[in-house]
Amino acid sequence: MNPIFQVVISTILRLKRTCPKCTESQIVPASKRLENVRCKFCGADIPPRK
Ligand SMILES: [Zn+2]
Repeated sequence: MNPIFQVVISTILRLKRTCPKCTESQIVPASKRLENVRCKFCGADIPPRK
């Protein structure tokens, strides 16, 4: 696999978060990586992945 493609995929996977309330997945901005984000589907706060 193209190494650049692998970096892109791993970055996306790291930014992907699953809402604990509605279990929808969404990509959060890299700048919000360490913060709670609001679920765009149900409005619940999603904590950063440990
Ligand atoms: Zn949600």
